[in-house]
Amino acid sequence: MRFFTHISASVPIAIIMARALPTEISVPVIFGVVVGSISPDVDFPHGNTVASWGRKIARRAKRRSVIGLVFVAPALYVLGTLIIVWGWTLKAIVKILDLPHRGALHSPLLAILFILAGGVLSLLHPLFSVLVGIGIGWITHLLLDMMTPSGIAVGKWRISGPVVTGSLVDYAIGIVMLVFAAIGFVI
Ligand SMILES: [Zn+2]
Repeated sequence: MRFFTHISASVPIAIIMARALPTEISVPVIFGVVVGSISPDVDFPHGNTVASWGRKIARRAKRRSVIGLVFVAPALYVLGTLIIVWGWTLKAIVKILDLPHRGALHSPLLAILFILAGGVLSLLHPLFSVLVGIGIGWITHLLLDMMTPSGIAVGKWRISGPVVTGSLVDYAIGIVMLVFAAIGFVI
């Protein structure tokens, strides 16, 4: 699936999942969901799409206007930098442990660990709920990868589907999910 599809699908799925969990849909959770939804693919052998998204966001901080400079720019710069640091931390782990694409980083267990850790740590400080969001976003990523021909491994099984990355169906899912996201926020 394209990153566009991962991000747009993460929001409505996350809204449903967050309602099932004892989690409020706060800004850190939504931020975590979007970042988590694209994170597992840092195990691609080349590049680091998470970090490059962070760079894109941080670069927007340079756009000058008075309101932008005072309020928007610092926030974008901080968010972008956080995403860059997160992206490169994950990439370093992938390199050090020599993880294959769609291997350990595409494990539902890892996502559940994020949710549990975030749930416990958010009792100390609400900002830690970002980890719950990352775990939820991570699961939405895995659900979408299960719809592609190469699929993902769950235990000793491999779950796959017919949706080819970059195909019309891929984009169609992204657009439909974007509409669901808008409806989810309104309801
Ligand atoms: Zn993936």
